[in-house]
Amino acid sequence: MNSTFSLETSFQVFENFGHSLRTAGYHILPTNTEQIAAAFQLAKKSGLTVTLRGAGRSYNDASLNGGGIVLDLTAMNHILEWDPATGVAKAEPGVTLEQLWHQVLPDGWWPPVVSGTMYTTLGGCLGANIHGKNNFKMGTIGEHVLEFSALLPTGAEITCSPKKNADLFYAFISGLGMLGVFTSITLQMKHVYSGLLEVHAWPVSDLSAQLRDLQEGAPAYDYIVGWLDATAHGKGLGRGQIHAAKYLSEGDDPNFEKTLKVKYQTLPSTFFGVVPKNILYIFMKPFFNNLGTWAINTAKYVASLRKGVHRQSHAAFHFLLDYVPNWELSYGRRGLIQYQSFLPKETAQEAWTEMLTLSHKRGLPSYLGVTKRHRPDDFLLSHALDGFSLALDFKVTDSNRAKLSQLLQEFDQIVLAAGGRFYFAKNSETSPETALRFLGVETIERFKKLKGRTDPNNLLESDLYRRVFEM
Ligand SMILES: Cc1cc2nc3c(=O)[nH]c(=O)nc-3n(C[C@H](O)[C@H](O)[C@H](O)COP(=O)(O)OP(=O)(O)OC[C@H]3O[C@@H](n4cnc5c(N)ncnc54)[C@H](O)[C@@H]3O)c2cc1C
Repeated sequence: MNSTFSLETSFQVFENFGHSLRTAGYHILPTNTEQIAAAFQLAKKSGLTVTLRGAGRSYNDASLNGGGIVLDLTAMNHILEWDPATGVAKAEPGVTLEQLWHQVLPDGWWPPVVSGTMYTTLGGCLGANIHGKNNFKMGTIGEHVLEFSALLPTGAEITCSPKKNADLFYAFISGLGMLGVFTSITLQMKHVYSGLLEVHAWPVSDLSAQLRDLQEGAPAYDYIVGWLDATAHGKGLGRGQIHAAKYLSEGDDPNFEKTLKVKYQTLPSTFFGVVPKNILYIFMKPFFNNLGTWAINTAKYVASLRKGVHRQSHAAFHFLLDYVPNWELSYGRRGLIQYQSFLPKETAQEAWTEMLTLSHKRGLPSYLGVTKRHRPDDFLLSHALDGFSLALDFKVTDSNRAKLSQLLQEFDQIVLAAGGRFYFAKNSETSPETALRFLGVETIERFKKLKGRTDPNNLLESDLYRRVFEM
């Protein structure tokens, strides 16, 4: 492919991960930095804006650009350098977490921070500054980036690290692809002595127990995460199950050479050895309604009452959702919305009690709730804080869309009043007023000033940017 792109043939529809949003844009797939520069020139000449897109796994409109160019970085997917002695990897932005762990695990390393799916790209992970189930201990992925190179819409190339161009380093990471394009990323991996984790699972009977165990449990583990049965009412409100995991120490796994192999980790392609996983979502569809989810959650909670300790592969522990390909399609034609709020540990219980109760009153229960423990970080558009997050998945239908939108806006007010924050990879309702209140005027001004420096012609825009930052 040369550096000349044709816009005529490239118009196509893009969706968010949850299939609840749909916009059309011009698809451009560069394979090198020179082609990215050419795409910016074309955008400028054509009067179009550019949105960067990795795997498109954001739940919202972060990588959508109605009427503009969608610059798809997935073809820049080479691991450029890997040093098994130091655990330092250098990769192009389209490299996925899956590619990365396949490369590093056999040598005894694991990515320091991973999302709940392995199909995200490194560029996308830095754009949102993802957190994992170890956020309370390891921070966000940005804290493990040693250096990155980026191409600015002006055509200039820059290198940033926590010491070099530090202001841009802390703004590009979390910057939602609005300042420039990551072209290579150098990341420090975490040393591991086994392909297995020791996983502890136990039930929690209500929200207070859920938050207490996340907080008190976190220091004893490397990872901690809660499942929250968002359909449970009354005394059981916020009940669920905690999963906490520890790395194995040197010598704990006599079969470490075997368990570190990719083949040992890989998720099976059938359920119970029979049902092909890629059609499983079809069987799940009939249960994705209020009654079906209540029944499944209740059964899951009852099953979780048996405490247990077991060893589980890294991939199985982290990427549970990848077990069922296309699981999001179970939500039906209008898809799903995920709403994730981050609350200080002092106010979380009261705010989430109010929100869960409100969702029940409105007849809009969330079908999946996930809780995590967090710590604050230094990135400019940070979502994290010293507290917890609760991610809630909601089914969207033609008849509930307006009601759901109203509910989520009311949630925003509860979260803001409780001193909370939001995550730009998830929520699709965040308004400019909400962003202003949680980020503060100074942060938004700093972000825009940096954007003025790196992208003086405002070529980089996304549906999310226009929704939240164009005030
Ligand atoms: C099943 C599932 C589980 C998830 N679990 C978690 C989780 O545990 N923790 C968490 O934090 N998130 C989680 N997420 C959200 C996901 O990790 C983020 O949305 C991530 O940004 C998606 O990466 P992507 O490659 O799909 O990027 P996209 O969604 O395509 O893009 C994300 C952002 O990065 C920007 N971007 C993309 N490439 C570049 C580049 N080269 N240079 C600069 N900017 C770029 C885009 O413009 C956009 O703003 C989950 C998502 C799913 C679907």
